[in-house]
Order: sequence, then C-alpha cells, then structure tokens
Amino acid sequence: KPIVIITIGMAGAGKSTFVQQINSYLHSQNPPKPPYVLNLDPAVANVPFEPNIDIRDTVNYHEVMKQYNLGPNGGILTALNLFTTKFDQVLDLVEKRADTVDYVILDTPGQIEIFTWSASGAIITDAVASSLPTVVAYIIDTPRTTAPATFMSNMLYACSILYKTKLPFILVFNKTDVQPHDFAIEWMHDFEKFQDALAHHSGTTDDEGEPTYMNSLMNSMSLVLDEFYQHLTAVGVSSVTGDGIKEFFDAVEASRTEYETEYLPELQQAK
Ligand code: GDP
Repeated sequence: KPIVIITIGMAGAGKSTFVQQINSYLHSQNPPKPPYVLNLDPAVANVPFEPNIDIRDTVNYHEVMKQYNLGPNGGILTALNLFTTKFDQVLDLVEKRADTVDYVILDTPGQIEIFTWSASGAIITDAVASSLPTVVAYIIDTPRTTAPATFMSNMLYACSILYKTKLPFILVFNKTDVQPHDFAIEWMHDFEKFQDALAHHSGTTDDEGEPTYMNSLMNSMSLVLDEFYQHLTAVGVSSVTGDGIKEFFDAVEASRTEYETEYLPELQQAK
C-alpha cells in the first residue's frame, strides 16, 4: 500500500521546492518510484512537474473570484470547497493506483491556514487518512526560525495541526544548506537550553527583575511543547541540494508503523 505525504508549510518555507526535490528523488531511485502527485493549490502559477491530479484542471480560480466577487484568499478557499465536493472521485483514482505506486504526494495551498483551518482541508485529510496510511510533513523555514520566540510560535502552530489531524507528523527543517538545524534539535531535546536561549535573547525580566509576561508565557508554553516533541520526528533537509531527503523518507517509512498502531485503531474505535 502506498503512503500519502501531506505537505504543509508557511508561504516561503520552500514547500514547492521540497515537493519538487522529493519527486525527483523518487524518480532517481533504482528502480524508479514515481509518486502519484496531487496539486491542491488552485493559485499556484507553475508547477515544475506534471501533477497526476491538479485542482486547476477542475476549477479556474480566477473565474471563481470573478463569479463570486471574492478576493484572492476567498477565491482559493472557494475553489478548494468546490474541488472537495468531487473528492470521492479523486480518491477513487488514487485507490486505483494503489498497487503500482509507493507514495502519494499531496501538495496543499501556499496559504497554510486555507488548508489547515478549513472544513475542506479537514474533509480531504480525513478522507485520505481513512483510506491510506498518511503522514503530515510540516515544512519549516529554518533560517527564519532561529529566534526563540519565532521558533516557539512555529512549533505551536505545528502542534495545533498535529492535535487537529492526529496523524503521524514529521517536522521538516528546510534550507539546511543556509542554516543547519542542530539548534532546533537541541532546543527540542533540552528544555533548559531553550530557556537559556530565551534569556539571552532579550527582555526576560522587567525593571524590578520580575520575569516579563512574554517570558513567563514562553516558559509555560515550553512545557506544552515538551510533550508535543515526544510525538514527532524531526529531520533537516535542503530542498536545493537534496541533503537529508533520504532521512526524510526513512522517517516516512517509520510513520507507516505509527499510522497502523496508533491512528488506525483510534479511527476504528471512533466509527
Ligand atoms: P513555498 O512558498 O513554500 O512553496 O516556497 P518556495 O518553494 O517557492 O521557496 C521559497 C524560496 O526559498 C525560494 O526562493 C526557494 O528557492 C528558496 N528555497 C526553498 N528551499 C530551499 C533550500 O532548501 N535552501 C535554500 N537555500 N533555499 C531554498
């Protein structure tokens, strides 16, 4: 059975480049393992490779904007909603290929919240995950997440997606060619190191020497995150050089087991 990789990431994190890199990695395997690719971004201008299923073939995002008198985000959301009404047919097509492909890659809209916080995003995620092993790959812009406060808000965002989907989750620290991700791993494994970083970063105490609101908030949040870190895998990659992509796929394989032992039983219980 193939495993579905749902790629999610803030705009600019390098999601498109990452999808392109894992796609070419799979093609270069011996024997080649071409993935089945679904593009769910109606507003993407050009995809560097031909997706097998493309939302842009079904809905014209510019037409949707005009017809319903919407701005860009409303247009993307409405296009996704329209596409979701046909998603059972999409899933049929994917399932037909289940014997011949090892990986299904789902590329989501560049505006992350349109997928993660919409009914359509939830419907698509649940539909896919109840039919095939599924893992979420959360792409992070490593060079832009070196400030402790930014790092934490990024992790909290990932955390909220993890608890919403309950799926196996891989944090993909991208752009390691510009900024190695070892600082992130250190902060995730060692709470005190993260606190030190916070303390050195500025504004940890006010004039009377009391911890500032921001600092005490961050300290309590770190405890929540500590729990969150137990439930996920982190890998560092460069979508430009291809560094770490093999490790990413090792993590994907490990998630298959997690899906079967943790996600599936809960799903069956819920039914
Ligand atoms: P998206 O908005 O998340 O789809 O991001 P893009 O894939 O368009 O990438 C945003 C920018 O980051 C582009 O200029 C990419 O060339 C760059 N980028 C993406 N991945 C990497 C990487 O691994 N290393 C470096 N140095 N740049 C990257």
